[in-house]
Amino acid sequence: MRVCVYCASSEHCDRVYHEAAFALGRQLAEAGCTTVYGGGAVGLMGSLADGALSAGGQVIGIIPRFMTEVEWQHPGLASLEVVEDMRERKHRLLTDSDAVVALPGGCGTLEELFEAITLKRLGLYFNPIVLVDTQGFYAPLQAFMEQVVAQRFMNPEHLGMWHLVDTVEEVLPAIRRIPRWRDDARSIAVVR
Ligand code: AMP
Repeated sequence: MRVCVYCASSEHCDRVYHEAAFALGRQLAEAGCTTVYGGGAVGLMGSLADGALSAGGQVIGIIPRFMTEVEWQHPGLASLEVVEDMRERKHRLLTDSDAVVALPGGCGTLEELFEAITLKRLGLYFNPIVLVDTQGFYAPLQAFMEQVVAQRFMNPEHLGMWHLVDTVEEVLPAIRRIPRWRDDARSIAVVR
């Protein structure tokens, strides 16, 4: 299974987030999953990759050329794909992934996450999207999206496009449990 993980570049967030990212990397590796991520060495990205590599896991980093020019890539990766720009990176991260996992992050993580959710709404992506709600990080986002639905910018069914889990230990069970997104996604894409 190829799992695409979106997560922060920040080094300065709480240690608990770094520990969760490291643990997720290890668990994916131990389960034989390939971790696909943004290829960075720092922040939660670095912790995720370190965790997966520490358990002998296969890790694929996908990074835009300009980031390699300033040496932001993780030096330990056997597989680093250098792409031309951020759009191509986002496309390559998601294409062929069997699931998306979002750890906490900033605007970059949220942008990647919302692209995946939007593609799912439009019937262009069908696999599980799991948000790791460490320390309740994603609870305000969940509440906001419920308000988006309540104000009829999305349909109630759309709240089923992503799933929150409390801990990284619940990520793989959730991925295995969550069914493929509905084939009739386009018929419910428009707000009724
Ligand atoms: P954020 O969640 O805002 O930290 O964004 C994570 C995203 O920021 C990554 O997917 C990258 O697009 C980008 N990014 C920012 N800084 C770095 C870095 N030092 N190394 C790699 N990617 C980075």
